[in-house]
Amino acid sequence: LSGDEENLSSAEREYEKALRPLSFADFTGQQKVLDNIKVFVQAAKLRSEPLDHVLLHGPPGLGKTTLSHIIANELNTNIKITSGPVLDKPGDLAGLLTNLEEGDVLFIDEIHRLNAVVEEYLYSAMEDYRIDIMLDSGPNARSVQISLNPFTLIGATTRSGLLTSPLRARFGINARLEYYDADLLKQIIQRSADILDTPMLEDASFEIARRSRGTPRIANMLLRRTRDFAQIKGDGTITKEISEIALNALDVDQHGLDEMDNRILSTIIEKFKGGPVGLGTIATAVGEEADTIEEVYEPFLIQEGYLKRTARGRQVTELAFKHLGIVPPARSGD
Ligand code: ATP
Repeated sequence: LSGDEENLSSAEREYEKALRPLSFADFTGQQKVLDNIKVFVQAAKLRSEPLDHVLLHGPPGLGKTTLSHIIANELNTNIKITSGPVLDKPGDLAGLLTNLEEGDVLFIDEIHRLNAVVEEYLYSAMEDYRIDIMLDSGPNARSVQISLNPFTLIGATTRSGLLTSPLRARFGINARLEYYDADLLKQIIQRSADILDTPMLEDASFEIARRSRGTPRIANMLLRRTRDFAQIKGDGTITKEISEIALNALDVDQHGLDEMDNRILSTIIEKFKGGPVGLGTIATAVGEEADTIEEVYEPFLIQEGYLKRTARGRQVTELAFKHLGIVPPARSGD
């Protein structure tokens, strides 16, 4: 349930595509970010200039890719999609950049994972719409300057803290996406159920919404699984009862924490007396990558008040003890 796009099957990708909003009007939530971006898009169109470069950050599955497609649609331009780890040579980047038409959007996902050399090429491309390419090597080496069509770079990252400051400084628009509240997720789920032609009762969409970790991608995934349960165990309609059966079968608990969330909390409590304990130690103990814990699980656990970061490591809160039905030990001096 991590919401990690890289682990999606092709059927799930198709499903995501079908449910992806295509215009500002279809996009639910993130009101402040959306209102600002609408103004910047309209102003850019009015002046017939490319939109300033945009940095979107926030936890996975909140709509960074979706919003980038929408921005390109609203600008009536093409979007080219790539990601930081894929661009490992300057030539890869140069190839993409030189193929952009005027005003196009280049979307770089996981932009914090660009390698330093490629990143450097990006600076002049972003700033002056030109790149200097080295031809040949040794005594014949010479650099040629190539001018590019003006374009908009949209960078997405789950870890804005890892961006270098020269890169960060080159984005004129900087937007942080937040977790969605249950009412917004309920609207997203109802919209998706309509698109899928799946009958769904209102209390059922709310039940899935409040247990989706504030994340549209997870909400849509839980809807898809719940629809399976409705077809096999019910009459096709998603009722509250069916959604509860599905969510329990998928190990999503009453508060929307999934199996890994609970494993992280119980490990910190049972093996490390509630913390503080370092991220690497937690990762080894639960059998998950430290990066994934930091990008996917921890932000939600912190926001919901189960976990906190201290100078000495991660520590669970009293709420975590209560959630797992464990009596907290008496602490001294905390
Ligand atoms: P990642 O960084 O992990 O790629 P992301 O933030 O780019 O995640 P998206 O791929 O844009 O997330 O969104 C995941 C899915 O959630 C999309 O397929 C889309 O259907 C749905 N979604 C995201 N945001 C919204 C929204 N505001 N309204 C409706 N659906 C949304």
